[in-house]
Amino acid sequence: MKRTAILLTALLAVPVQAAEKPNIIVVVADDLGYADVGFQRCKDIPTPHLDALAKRGVVCTNGYVTHPFCSPTRAALLTGRYQQRFGHENNPAWLPENKDVGLPLDQPTLADALKKLGYSTGAVGKWHLGAHPSFHPNRRGFDSYFGMLGGGHQYFNHNTFKTDPMKAKQEYFIPLVRDEKPVEENEYMTDALGREAAAFVEANKAKPFFLYLAFNAPHTPLQAPQKYLDRVKDIKDEKLRTYGAMVCGMDDAVGVLVAKLKEHGLTDNTIVFFFSDNGGPVGVTNCRNTPLRGAKGEVYEGGIRVPFVVSWPAKLKPGTFDHPVSSLDVFPTARVAGGGDAPRNPKLDGMDLLPHLRGESKESLADRVLFWRTGGGQNFAARAGTLKLVKVGKNPAELYDLSADASESTNLADKKPADVAALQKRLDTWNNELVAPKWDNPQAAKKK
Ligand code: CA
Repeated sequence: MKRTAILLTALLAVPVQAAEKPNIIVVVADDLGYADVGFQRCKDIPTPHLDALAKRGVVCTNGYVTHPFCSPTRAALLTGRYQQRFGHENNPAWLPENKDVGLPLDQPTLADALKKLGYSTGAVGKWHLGAHPSFHPNRRGFDSYFGMLGGGHQYFNHNTFKTDPMKAKQEYFIPLVRDEKPVEENEYMTDALGREAAAFVEANKAKPFFLYLAFNAPHTPLQAPQKYLDRVKDIKDEKLRTYGAMVCGMDDAVGVLVAKLKEHGLTDNTIVFFFSDNGGPVGVTNCRNTPLRGAKGEVYEGGIRVPFVVSWPAKLKPGTFDHPVSSLDVFPTARVAGGGDAPRNPKLDGMDLLPHLRGESKESLADRVLFWRTGGGQNFAARAGTLKLVKVGKNPAELYDLSADASESTNLADKKPADVAALQKRLDTWNNELVAPKWDNPQAAKKK
């Protein structure tokens, strides 16, 4: 009896938290402006929960996504590879009968990888990686799913079309689904996603879990309930006010999720990533990417540099990190944290960020090179260290030094031809590894 008691005491003395695999949560905003959350110095849209998350974590001031619009970014995020390597360079049209337009089935996802490491996996929110049943999140490594399978949705009246989602023609009106079954849903979309994210944590709190929470907010249509509009009533511009209210809704939903983690003592050993899938569409919602040049769709910073936070209170000291990081890094970072292989097996394009964020890596990220390509080769960008090469259509190459000129206002191409040539060479090498887009953007496809 005494022996058992001693043994029990010894067992209890083991720091359980430290021995456990961390939970992993990836929160993605949709079309959020670079300057539209408090931790990015926004003054007129209150985002207390996101700001608290940023304060607990590391704010990456040079955080990038791999594409200036929705679906390609998500394809790279979930595979850890540049999406152009497998032809996912455009948005997929809503084509439930088409087996070819979606995240290629030969590309394993982060959910697949984490499942192998013993994680429960769940996705909540916007999918946008193919409408055919073979591309459904439940077949891409996620044990559970709740949300909209297309590229966006109405925020109210989700039940307008009580039809089979496979037959509905209008992507933004299809019924929401729980796994593969259409569901009745009456809450404001963003509130519903926060509720479902918290429910996933509640259901999986006893084991390590991976949650991919992809808001469609604050993407259009601009729709917000009065409770959020009231928080931004001083914003005069109507579009910006509604957009700001939608950001408030997303912040509240993050608050609901974070409160659930806290309730179960999971805050410390949960890694949370937060970023936007692309830069703000300034001309559409009047959102702001200040001080960056350009907007969603462009390879200037305003299209690809996004608010970016990595939080892991148990292992990561809060602060800021100024070297370039990418959404490509999420996959290897999560897999290594979950007890998986070193990032290069199989070949991934990102890297495990944790040694870098903790200042423990011998290798510096100061000189890392990141690449972008849109339209199968219409536009390109490459960043190496602080220098960035931009190629827009048939225009001559532009060169910017982002350390002194984050707004890309002074083109140094004529002054630094050797740097232009060196970056162009790196870009060409990368471009030669890519394949042509497997499909057109829906808008372009319609014109055909
Ligand atoms: Ca987007």
